[in-house]
Amino acid sequence: MTQKCLPPASSPLERLSPEDVASLEDAHRADHFHDECGVFGIHGDDEASHLTYLGLYALQHRGQESCGIVASNGKEHVAHRAMGLVADTFGAEILEQLKGRHAIGHVRYSTSGGSMLRNAQPICANTDGGPVSIAHNGNLVNAGVIRRELEGRGAIFGSTSDSEVLLHLVARSREKHMEDRFIDAISRVKGAYSLILLTNDALIAARDPHGFRPLSIGRKDGAFVLSSETCALDLIGATHERDVEPGEVVVIRRGRLRSIRPLGRDVGEHFCIFEHIYFARPDSDLVGRNVYAYRKELGRVLSREHPVKADMVAPVLDSGSAAALGYAEESGIPYETALIRNHYVSRSFIEPTQTIRDFKVRVKHNPVRGFLDGKRIVLVDDSIVRGTTLVKIVGMLRAAGAREVHVRISSPPTIGSCHYGIDTPNREELIAYRHSVEEICERIGADSLGYLSIEGLRRTADKELKRGICDGCFSGDYPVEIDSTSTVPQLTLFRAVREADTGF
Ligand code: AMP
Repeated sequence: MTQKCLPPASSPLERLSPEDVASLEDAHRADHFHDECGVFGIHGDDEASHLTYLGLYALQHRGQESCGIVASNGKEHVAHRAMGLVADTFGAEILEQLKGRHAIGHVRYSTSGGSMLRNAQPICANTDGGPVSIAHNGNLVNAGVIRRELEGRGAIFGSTSDSEVLLHLVARSREKHMEDRFIDAISRVKGAYSLILLTNDALIAARDPHGFRPLSIGRKDGAFVLSSETCALDLIGATHERDVEPGEVVVIRRGRLRSIRPLGRDVGEHFCIFEHIYFARPDSDLVGRNVYAYRKELGRVLSREHPVKADMVAPVLDSGSAAALGYAEESGIPYETALIRNHYVSRSFIEPTQTIRDFKVRVKHNPVRGFLDGKRIVLVDDSIVRGTTLVKIVGMLRAAGAREVHVRISSPPTIGSCHYGIDTPNREELIAYRHSVEEICERIGADSLGYLSIEGLRRTADKELKRGICDGCFSGDYPVEIDSTSTVPQLTLFRAVREADTGF
């Protein structure tokens, strides 16, 4: 049983620069891991790696920093991972080498603390039970504790990612069968995981008992497909069968899917409501509800909670567009595009320094001059994180002649970091952690500011989703306790590493 790792597409010899070291130190300071990810898997298709490539393409919004695909031909795993976007990473030549009827893929997004190739996924290992590769979306809140324990027993970690803990637990389990090893591993970890494990001949997937992050099951002809979001199923022409349920493990082998519920205790579902508010693609259905329709509904509720007289409702594109439409429909104020978005710029949030973030807001959004003169605008966005975007945009709209700018946000104030897989900065950096709504309004230079209330958010979730949600970043109610000592990874600084050699 062997595993091969294809050489990285670019910069084969990667050294830790001073910035890398600084970012590792950041990770020590940070109160949580910084990860947002998308996972995809397919079992039983001759075109497995090509379809995974397409699937990752559709999930690119979930992670733009690194990506990877691992294919199994029944005997060995072949992997390719690289920093960068899916389209820039996988050419025909590379996909040609990823042979096999089963494959998994991953896209990853991080800011401080782990922006390096060795944290790219899927992560692979050779175990005495054969090769295994893992793609993980979510954050494990006790990864640090388990990691220290394993390191104390001689384990050597190749990355600073919490997901590697899972791989070690699978490799060290004394169980004979891979699914039992997998169950062994997930019963040790706490926090958020939507997880796909690839063995020689099977896909084994799970969602944590709270069901923080999404994971859908699809079918394409005889093949089984797993994906963070249904938009990837649509792209490859797979049908959406159902979601992996919270606490469920599915084992896909020889054209059959077996469902197990090994984790016992029912802890209640806590689906991350920020997936619906911002993170997921609007064309996806998450936990049984279309994201676009849900966002429109939030806009309607927002309009009822914070009405204002205005000439137009305009979104901050693209994140605010569905909520702005809902606001416009409910209020009767016409929907207009007051700003044009440059689509060749990635999300403003991703940039590591404030100077570049400021600059990118201007590159990304430009007001439609000549159309805004003397107008009263309701400007709708999904959330305010640091306030960088809105300060600039409100200023630009005024400079373009707007008479009044009323900002409306289709979520409550973001007052806390996410510990379960959405990349939010430390809470000190969150404008709503430090400032009241009135102060934020003043800082962003708006005429008025209205956030959706937490009650409005919860009522809408009850009505539309009919299931439990996690709104910890808005309410401070975190369903899984965070032990800050347990979440900081043990980092080893070393130089001159050929990443392709350390991947396994
Ligand atoms: P900021 O300029 O820091 O206030 O960021 C606000 C913008 O970032 C909004 O337009 C949101 O759509 C977007 N945003 C919110 N949360 C995230 C996140 N976790 N990752 C990336 N972008 C985000």
